[in-house]
Amino acid sequence: MTSVMWFRRDLRVSDNKALYHASKEDDLILLFQVNPAQFITGSPSHQAFFASVAHFQQELAKTARLQIMFGDPMECLQQLKEAVPTWDKVFFNRDETGYGASRDAAAQQFFDEQQIEVHAFHDSYLHSAEEVKKSPTEYYKIFTPYYKKWREEIKEMPLKVTLKPENIRKESIFPKYEEQFAELVRDVPSLDNGEQAANARLASFIKEDLTDYDKARDFPELDKTSHLSRYLRTGEISIRTIWQALQQTETTEGRATFEKELCWRDFYNMIYVSFPEQKNEPIQENYRYIEWENNRVFFKRWQEGQTGFPLVDAAMRQLKETGWMHNRLRMITASFLTKDLLIDWRFGEKYFQQMLIDYDSASNIGGWQWAASTGTDAVPYFRIFNPTTQSEKFDPTGKFIRMYVKELANIPDKFIHQPEKMSETEQKEHGIIIGKDYPLPIVDHKERRKLAIARYEFSKEHYRGNI
Ligand SMILES: Cc1cc2nc3c(=O)[nH]c(=O)nc-3n(C[C@H](O)[C@H](O)[C@H](O)COP(=O)(O)OP(=O)(O)OC[C@H]3O[C@@H](n4cnc5c(N)ncnc54)[C@H](O)[C@@H]3O)c2cc1C
Repeated sequence: MTSVMWFRRDLRVSDNKALYHASKEDDLILLFQVNPAQFITGSPSHQAFFASVAHFQQELAKTARLQIMFGDPMECLQQLKEAVPTWDKVFFNRDETGYGASRDAAAQQFFDEQQIEVHAFHDSYLHSAEEVKKSPTEYYKIFTPYYKKWREEIKEMPLKVTLKPENIRKESIFPKYEEQFAELVRDVPSLDNGEQAANARLASFIKEDLTDYDKARDFPELDKTSHLSRYLRTGEISIRTIWQALQQTETTEGRATFEKELCWRDFYNMIYVSFPEQKNEPIQENYRYIEWENNRVFFKRWQEGQTGFPLVDAAMRQLKETGWMHNRLRMITASFLTKDLLIDWRFGEKYFQQMLIDYDSASNIGGWQWAASTGTDAVPYFRIFNPTTQSEKFDPTGKFIRMYVKELANIPDKFIHQPEKMSETEQKEHGIIIGKDYPLPIVDHKERRKLAIARYEFSKEHYRGNI
């Protein structure tokens, strides 16, 4: 009898719940299935994910083999069953939302038909959506009461997984798929991948930056956040490992604030479970009638970091150059796209999906719906970030701006947030012409703010049937 461990976004051995149970089986196949319909070829986000899969495959190759399959998931499962008729048990960590949840539902049907015993686990979050609820039939909508309940719940301990190489199939079942995968990842730039790198990142964050996390986390130039998001996305580190490591440290404001951020991750997963349509639909129905301008030129300027708002531009260039963006800047750029440029948040969400190496659908959609004021417990539509005052507050000397907007590197601090305020003489003096070497602001924030508020109010009135 044969068992299959089906990896997804849990690319690690240690503290992998499904693998912990699968590793006790006598004849075990380790599987990763790639669905080409699911990825955007060449997008930094998917390249980063495949770099992690490739690294995991290499790491496993020291003692075992990660079998790769390519194609539609149901066809792959069918092919595997035909190639391995003794297959009678499957182990995996389930997805609660989005594509993963629908794939798992379809797979369940296949397993039932084939009489394959399913062993599915919740592994990705400290608490799955069903574990922290207002009542057995009601999910939370507001973060603060959710957080209060979430804190009270006991968090699981990490599991020690011991693989038995002698029980794992080493011969390639589908060599053609392995070749296809090798081709796919041939030119993918490797990042600092793997469990070891992820654990080293955690250790260094705890040692250097945890204590002052609450004070430093909002300042992009300091770069004092953990950068664990991309490892959490691929599962190169387990959330329980992170949690238990935190519990070994002294109780500080920094630690409490960091733990709260981990709760936001669980919260947005739970919200996605309770609003499965949230990738396409605003959660708050009264904001379904906003008249977006969706100006293509503005969208391009935003993507390229050419809006004339230095911190917005620095942030968008950071995303393009590194595949990551600081949280404060995600909030500022998302607010700018939706409220200043009046571009539908769904375009921004999709762009981040392509670009972010830590792309996580629940957190990304949650973040975008928060910034666009359409989500649950989102920023109110009339509290619109002023991109200039945000810049003055969170990048006071413009150090971060200068890292990415090189054209502004030599201008004095007092003009760094609004370079268009320099006189012609001052521009000449500093070797830059605003409007030529760096753009003038593409919109007037004050006017756009008023317009955005009017559009949101119109949507509310329309929803109420008054228009
Ligand atoms: C518009 C927008 C889009 C976002 N898209 C994503 C995304 O695709 N993937 C993603 O992981 N996060 C996303 N976030 C949340 C947050 O910006 C990132 O998790 C964070 O910047 C990652 O960097 P870090 O690991 O250094 O974070 P840290 O500050 O070190 O936080 C630690 C961990 O807590 C979690 N976390 C922190 N803030 C949030 C948050 N607001 N929501 C949910 N989880 C959080 C993450 O898992 C993060 O790794 C988005 C936020 C916004 C406003």
